[in-house]
Parts: sequence; C-alpha cells; structure tokens
Amino acid sequence: MLKKILVANRGEIAIRVMRACRELGIDTVGVYSDADQDALFAKYADESYLIGEGPPHKSYLNMDKIIAVAKATGCDGIHPGYGFLAENAKFATAVRDAGIEFIGPSADSIEKMGDKIIARSLMQQAGVPVVPGSTSEVTELAEAQRIVAKIGYPVIIKAAGGGGGIGMRVVREDSELEAALEITRNMAGSAFGNPSIFIEKYLEHPRHIEIQILADKQGHTVFLGERECSIQRRHQKLIEESPSPVVTPELRQTMGDVAVKASRAIDYYNAGTIEFIFSEGKFYFLEMNTRVQVEHPITEMVTDIDIVKEQIRIASGLPLDFAQEDIRMNGWAIECRINAEDPLNNFAPMAGKLRGYRSPGGIGVRVDSGVHAQYAIPPFYDSMISKLVVHGRDRNEAIERMKRALFEYIIVGVTTNIPFHKAVMKDPMFVRGELSTHYIEEQKHLSEEMRRVIEETKSLQEKLTGIFKDDRKAAAVTAAVTAYLSSLAAVED
Ligand code: ADP
Repeated sequence: MLKKILVANRGEIAIRVMRACRELGIDTVGVYSDADQDALFAKYADESYLIGEGPPHKSYLNMDKIIAVAKATGCDGIHPGYGFLAENAKFATAVRDAGIEFIGPSADSIEKMGDKIIARSLMQQAGVPVVPGSTSEVTELAEAQRIVAKIGYPVIIKAAGGGGGIGMRVVREDSELEAALEITRNMAGSAFGNPSIFIEKYLEHPRHIEIQILADKQGHTVFLGERECSIQRRHQKLIEESPSPVVTPELRQTMGDVAVKASRAIDYYNAGTIEFIFSEGKFYFLEMNTRVQVEHPITEMVTDIDIVKEQIRIASGLPLDFAQEDIRMNGWAIECRINAEDPLNNFAPMAGKLRGYRSPGGIGVRVDSGVHAQYAIPPFYDSMISKLVVHGRDRNEAIERMKRALFEYIIVGVTTNIPFHKAVMKDPMFVRGELSTHYIEEQKHLSEEMRRVIEETKSLQEKLTGIFKDDRKAAAVTAAVTAYLSSLAAVED
C-alpha cells in the first residue's frame, strides 16, 4: 500500500481524498495557492506547501513544482482529484518518471479518451454504440455537409479536446453550418489548445446516464451501477441521482456490460466513468472521464464502496477484493451541487465571504465541502460550496430527506442556488422522474417557485431568530439571520 500521498488539488475533493488516506493510515501532503492560504484542505493535510499564486497556471497546473514537492516530502503517490491535472497524460507520465505512482489510469488511456474523436473510433471498433456522426476530424465544409446529409439536422459540433460543456454548438439548418464550424474550431483552439472538431447527431430530449467502473491492474473490471445526471445548466451537472429512475435491472446489466467492454478495449485501470446519452430507450457513448467524478458520492452511498480508497488500493497494485456479483445497489442517493451562484439570474457565479454557515446533518445526510464560516470564495476557481448528498431507502425518502437537508442548510453572505434545489425537489416532473438535459430551460415555473421558496424561507428564519433570542449566542445568531434575511431580500429585488 502507498504510504504518503500528495493531493494535487484543492477544495472539497482535496479533503475527500485526504479523508480516504486518513482512514487507510496514509500520510498526506497538500499543495495550495496563495488564494487558498486559509482554505480548510491546506490545514487538513499532515503537511502543506504553498506552490504559487492564485491563477491555476501559476499553482495547481504547475507540474514541475507539484512533482518537486512530492519528491522533497518523500511521497510515493500523487492523487490528482478532478479537473486541473487529472486528465493530463503528460502529468501522469512525469509523475511516474519521477518514481511516484500516479493514482489514475495509464497515460495511454488518458490520451486515448482525452481526444473525443479517437475515443469515438476506438469505441466503435470495440462494438460500443456511439452517437451517429463523424468518424474523423472535420476540416472542410463539404465534409460536414456530407455527414449532415447522412444523419440529418439538428447536429452538434464539438471540440475533440473539449470538456466542461464548453464550446459545443447546435446547428439546425444549412445556413448556420459554415459559421458554426468556424466558431467552434476557433473556440477549440483557444480554450483547449486543439482546434480539431467533429459532428454528432443532436438528440432532442436525451437523458445523461453514466456508468462508474473500477478496474485493477490484474485485469478485473466491475461496474458500480449508474448515475442519472440530466439536470444541467450550460451542459454542466447540478443534480445527480443513483440509480436512475428509467434504468431497469436488465438495462443496468446491458449498460454495465458495455461500459466494462469499453474500459477493457483500452486496458483501463483505476476508477473511470463512461458517459452515455440516453434517448428513446437507446444509449450511446458520449465520452469517458478517466478520473474520479464530482458526483461519485452517490454511487458510494448506494453501493457502500469507497471509490477513492479503491483508487488508492488499485494504484498500490492490489487486486479488487470483490467481484461483480458482490456489488449490490441499496436504496437511492441524490446529490445537489451547492454553488455560489444566482439561479434567478441565469446561474451567474457569485464571489463573496460566508459570514454565517451551518451545514445540515442527521440520518442519511453527507456534506462534502471545503468551506467554513468566514471562508472567502476565491475568484480563480469554480464556485462550488459543497456537495449535499442524501441516501434513503427509496427515491421518495431520498427526495424528502433532501428537502429536509436543504431546509437545514444556512449560508449567510453569498447568494447560492439552494432555492433552485428546493424548487426542483418539489417539482412534480422531478418527483415523477421525468427528466431530460433540457429540464431547467423547459421548467419555466421554477423561477416562480424559487421566489416562493425564498419567501417561505424568510418566515422560517424569523422563527429561528425567535428561538435563539435568549441564548448567550443570540447576538451573533441574530446578526447572522438578519444578514441572511437581507441577502434573501436582495435576491428578490
Ligand atoms: P463535455 O466533455 O464538454 O462535458 P459531453 O460530450 O460530455 O461534453 O456533453 C456534455 C453534455 O452536453 C451532455 O450531458 C448533454 O447534455 C449535452 N450533449 C452532448 N452531446 C450531445 C448530443 N449528441 N445530443 C444532445 N445533447 C448532447
């Protein structure tokens, strides 16, 4: 087993990895930027080191610096988390060349899956269904027109090196095609350093369903069920659940078998996720994420398998100590990403300081977070405050538990998307499990509901003020609640 791990990441995922290390008796080294001097993860690590300034390229993307710290502190493993260097084949190679284990797959797997055009063609060869579209890079308009003639409008133009839902363009008619190719190519070149683009059929009302896999270096691969991640804004996930309301045991087995086949086709090891787009009973390969996913906790809740510990065990060369038939899905888990963003203003990211903070708890509630009261959200990184995860015996219990947990969540000082999550949990379409990736834009009444929810929350907060009135901490609590109320009033304006 590895003995000392450097976590090349920040925020909640850095803490998530360090928690696994703590339970396994592994020492941890944190690295942080000067914007994260006061961040919890930097204190949680056994040792931590400042590696540069706030902008990611000056710190969390500085491979040489990170590897130098790992060597100097005697680490035998580096965990990249998600984002930053997690899917960087060059980094994986450099880490291993330095005699340190990269906790993830081979550089070759990262490279193959990092290019969506290569991934599509490898998957096709392996017999995995892919969305109809181009088989290689599209460079000419005439070529694009040939593909469109075959698959029909609408189509979506994507960057081979794309990620984070950025830069994709839907095209519905001929007159838009040439400009869309040009714009996507330019965007791909500047955002991802790779101008290659390709074309896929655009599915109108799909669901996003993904399969978690684990594979050891001895050739055993298992799947840990699915996650439904259809509730997205700007092609980025906001709410995920496991299992999916539409996946039957038979479909789960079929999708799982395909995911295992996809992983084996590239000799994959460690944790990975095969993302599928699901439409009218059929599923198609979208991409493979060669790292731990933000939403991995919901799978942990229903399978009782600690995915990060398994990543570390696999990287240490240990075989999986369970087989596919040992994996049982138990109950239902939902994750709400709690972000500092304004759901009533097109989910615009908000910066600011958490002047008051109380996270929910109780049975079946898990909060993965890297924040604390008085924490200032730095402008350089994503605006996620926490991942609120609940587990219940069935979907109804999970929804009721999420409502209860959201009710308990108090964040003072910054605008969050909590009212959005509260509105969704009450929405009849969501409750019926009728989801698609267009859920948010189509549920126009959600804004109305959010305003109502904010109004309701106000009176609950007023009651809270009353309860705390005679307490010694009354002054502080009252101040926090008053500030909370005025922040709600501000949102309303
Ligand atoms: P990224 O790597 O940028 O996250 P993905 O290919 O994983 O891009 O797609 C992200 C999201 O974009 C999907 O979950 C889905 O909502 C939407 N999307 C992608 N491809 C298609 C498609 N062919 N048809 C419809 N929606 C799509």
